[in-house]
Amino acid sequence: MDDSRDNKITRRSLLKSAALLAGVSAVPGVLLSPEAQAAKASKAAMQYRTHPNGKHECSNCMHFIPGSSPSANGKCTVVAGSISPHGWCIAYAAKQS
Ligand code: SF4
Repeated sequence: MDDSRDNKITRRSLLKSAALLAGVSAVPGVLLSPEAQAAKASKAAMQYRTHPNGKHECSNCMHFIPGSSPSANGKCTVVAGSISPHGWCIAYAAKQS
């Protein structure tokens, strides 16, 4: 069989896959209202707790929005509600220093 034909089929199937992925990734934007997209996860869904997981805690997570002082509760870009700087959840992601 001609190698160039195999390459075309491979390229075509890759392009179809890329188009399919692009369509799938666009679906939430089409189906969800802006309010729904802005909604945060519940503490329960993210297994949030008010104590650290070793050295991992909200105060050194990239999603944490600090409160009025280092010890005050803040907010989170992922989890809804008041967030302790010493809390933790499964969405924890270390801040880049
Ligand atoms: S993602 Fe989780 S660990 Fe990070 S700030 Fe929010 S609640 Fe804390």
